[in-house]
Amino acid sequence: MVRLMICREHPMTYDARASLAEIVAVSDMVEAFTEEDQCRRLMEAMVGPRGRICPACGFRESIALAGRDQGRKARPGLYQCSSGECRLQLTVTTHTPLHSTKLPLRVWLTGLWLILQSDKGISSVRLAEAIGVSQPTAWRMGHALRLLVTREQTVAGTVEIDDLYIGGSPRKDPDRPRLGRGRKGQPRTTKTPALTIVQRPESLDDGAQAGAAGARVVDDLSEREAFRVLSEHVDPSADLMSDEWKSFVSAGQAFAAHDTVRHSDREYARGPIHTNSVEGFNDRVRRTVAGVFHHISPQLADLCFNEIGFRWSQRVVNGQITRRTQKGREVIKPSWARINPALQLPAVFRSAVGRQLRRTKHGGIHVRCAVAVFG
Ligand SMILES: [Zn+2]
Repeated sequence: MVRLMICREHPMTYDARASLAEIVAVSDMVEAFTEEDQCRRLMEAMVGPRGRICPACGFRESIALAGRDQGRKARPGLYQCSSGECRLQLTVTTHTPLHSTKLPLRVWLTGLWLILQSDKGISSVRLAEAIGVSQPTAWRMGHALRLLVTREQTVAGTVEIDDLYIGGSPRKDPDRPRLGRGRKGQPRTTKTPALTIVQRPESLDDGAQAGAAGARVVDDLSEREAFRVLSEHVDPSADLMSDEWKSFVSAGQAFAAHDTVRHSDREYARGPIHTNSVEGFNDRVRRTVAGVFHHISPQLADLCFNEIGFRWSQRVVNGQITRRTQKGREVIKPSWARINPALQLPAVFRSAVGRQLRRTKHGGIHVRCAVAVFG
């Protein structure tokens, strides 16, 4: 029997993690996420691991309003900020992507667990079937997860960059000629370009976590756009690695070091200088889009990249394996294991407060604020 044991005094105690670690199979998850009250306490522990903070003023003290269990009217889980000027009444979902949700928290936890448990995600149609909500609700739930795992921190250390195109090939139109090739032999395309950034892990010892990874939609692959995205997401102290694309070469001058591999000379790795990790990430994006999302709109692509990047980072080294290359050379590579999906939940909710998602009149989403206030 999996019970969520959460200490009221120190919310994110060892017990909470230990009980999350026990959730391995679907049956464990169903058992653990049954009682609404327990799910709420677990969410409170994950959203405020160091105690409850008022999302409006940042005050660290708040009181629990006496609930129905004590014969009062307030619903359980309702708190009030103790700051004299603020007095905001808040729950665990206030000013998070779950703000003003009508779904029980156990449905949220079940849905998020199912999305994380599936290796590349789960389509909104399947998720809706699994948890018994409408497809638009499941679709918004997926986007809430993507917003929750958005990270603002810049990456440092060794950082690989590359480009990626999303979208299908253009429809055949007899009135418009084929696009042909543009300058420098790059194929002209109507697809949406994106810039991918992957941080290499600091070490490859057992238990080391994968680095951060992500991508951003860009207007084009110009130096200006490359510099805009890189300066926003990469620390100037970083050691960049890329191919010899000229925008990368010039934008890379703003960083501590920049090494390139010459793909045109069929050079793919020169010792530690390679872009294999970022190309692996690009492949993961392509496979996720093809297999799960089927189509991502350029407007919401950044959110989808956040989810794929989060999955990428939620892996740890669990040993070394020996592989044989095509030329028969033996190479030792790290083998990766995914972090248990239930144990990814604290990382999902860690910086929830401040990020706000609202429904639009037409059932869509509107990201009101993508920046976390705390955490
Ligand atoms: Zn307050």
